[in-house]
Amino acid sequence: MTAEIMEADLLVLGGGPGGYTAAFRAADLGLSVVLVDQRAALGGVCLNVGCIPSKALLHCAKVLDEAQGLAEMGIDFDRPRIRLEALRNWKSALIKKLNGGLAGLARQRNVRLLTGKGRFADAHHLAVEGGPKVKFAQAIIAVGSHPASLPVFPDDPRIMDSTAALELPDMPERLLVVGGGIIGMELASVYAALGSRVTVVELTEGLLPGCDRDLVKPLEKRLAERYEAMLTDARVIEASAREDGIHVAFEGRQAPGPQVYNRVLVAVGRRPNGGFIDAERAGVRVDERGFIPVDRQQRTNVRHIFAIGDVVGEPMLAHKASYEGKVAAEVAAGKRVANDAQVIPAVAYTDPEVAWVGLSETAALRDGIAFEKASFPWAASGRALSIGRSEGLTKILVDPRTHALLGVGMVGPQAGDLISEAALAIEMGAEPGDIALTIHPHPTLSETLAFAAEAYEGTLTELYLGRKKR
Ligand code: NAD
Repeated sequence: MTAEIMEADLLVLGGGPGGYTAAFRAADLGLSVVLVDQRAALGGVCLNVGCIPSKALLHCAKVLDEAQGLAEMGIDFDRPRIRLEALRNWKSALIKKLNGGLAGLARQRNVRLLTGKGRFADAHHLAVEGGPKVKFAQAIIAVGSHPASLPVFPDDPRIMDSTAALELPDMPERLLVVGGGIIGMELASVYAALGSRVTVVELTEGLLPGCDRDLVKPLEKRLAERYEAMLTDARVIEASAREDGIHVAFEGRQAPGPQVYNRVLVAVGRRPNGGFIDAERAGVRVDERGFIPVDRQQRTNVRHIFAIGDVVGEPMLAHKASYEGKVAAEVAAGKRVANDAQVIPAVAYTDPEVAWVGLSETAALRDGIAFEKASFPWAASGRALSIGRSEGLTKILVDPRTHALLGVGMVGPQAGDLISEAALAIEMGAEPGDIALTIHPHPTLSETLAFAAEAYEGTLTELYLGRKKR
C-alpha cells in the first residue's frame, strides 16, 4: 500500500448506477470527486453482471419465442442454431461499449477513478486496497448488494448465482431455478428459450410474490406450457453434487421425488453490502442485516456521509439508486433538496412483462387502504391481438375520495415501457379523467392505460360495461 493521499470534496464508494450518477452529478455541480470501485470497469452489478447482460439475453429469448409463435400465423422457421460463444461475445462487447462510455463520461468531468476495495479508516479517510488513501470532506456510500446463497447447496461450479448464470457457461439440458422472483424468472426465460428444460421451485404460493395475482397469472399460464415444472409452495431440502449432476430432494405440496439437474440457479434475493466497508470506523450505523439507514436527504447518522441504492433498502432497483444518487450529490453540493419520489416503478422483464407502480391491490388490502379499481383486458386491444398476444391486462387503482391515481399494474409485452406513463401520471397528481382525455395514438398498447381510465370514468366504448356512470 502506498502512503500517497488523494484529496477530494466528495468520495463516492461504488461505481454502479447509483454511484456513477452521484459522482457525475456532483462533478457537474463543481465538486472535486473521487470514485472508487473494486471493479476496473464502471457500471456495477447492473451493467456488468445484472440488468444489461440479462436484458441482452432476454432480447434473444424474446425473438426466439416470437419466431416460434409465428407458426400460428402460417410462418415456420427451422430450429435455430445457437452458437453460445458468439452470443457470449456479443454480450461482452455490449458491456464493454457501455463501460467505455462511462469511463469517457468520467474523464470529461474530471472524476478521478480508483480501482480496489475501499474501507473506511475514519470519518474522513478511505483506504483503497492496493491504492492511495482518499481524504474526503463528504462521502456517498453506494456499495450495493450481493446474491443471497442457500446453505442446502454444496459448493460446486454447477450451482450458480445470477452472475455465473449470465456467463452462459453451457446450455444445461435440465436447469433448476430456485426462487421465482424477478431474477429467477428472467434467467429462467433465457435458459428455456435457448433450449434448457427448466424447473422453478418457489417457496411461496406463486411467482413474483408481493405482486398482484391477476398480473402474475398470465405469466404463470404461459410459462406452465413452456417449463418442465413450476413448483410453488415448495423448497429444496437436500442437494448433493455428483458426477452425473446435482441431485435434489424437494419438500412441498406438489413436490416430485428426487431429481437430477445439470445446473442449478439460486436466485433467492440479494443482501446489502453495508457490512463489508468498515463503516463503523467512520461512525456510520449499519443495521444487523447490512443496510445503512438514511434520512430523506440520503444522509446517514454521520451528517457528511450519505448512502444510496441497494445498501439503504428495498426495492433494490437501479433506477431507485440513480435517483437517490442525484439527491445525495445535490445535497452534498449545497442544494436544498430531498428524496420526494412518490413512486418507484418495478418491472419483471419476463414474457409477458409484468410492471407495476404505486399502490398495489395486495398492499391496499393488507394495509386497509380504500381504493376503486378499473381494468382493461388486452383481449379487447386491436394492437395486442395483431401481435398475437391477448393475455395482457392494465388496471388502475384510484382514491375513492380524491379520485387521484394511486397505482397502476400491467402485464403484457412491453409493459415495462408502458408503465412510465403511469409513474408520470401519479407524480403529477393526475386523475383517471386526465389520462382518459389525453389522446393516445391508435393502435398502440399504450391505449390500454387510457381505456382503463375510461373504464373508471364510465366513458369506455371499446367494451360494453353497462350504462354510463357519468
Ligand atoms: P426476490 O426477493 O425478488 O425473489 C426471491 C424469490 O425467492 C422469492 O420469490 C422468494 O419467495 C423465493 N425464495 C426465497 N427462499 C427460497 C427457497 N429457499 N426456496 C425457494 N424459493 C425461495 O429476489 P431476486 O429475484 O433474487 O432479486 C433480487 C433483487 O434484485 C430484488 O430486489 C429485485 O427487485 C432486484 N432485481 C430487479 C430486476 C428488475 O427490476 N427487472 C431484475 C433483477 C433483480
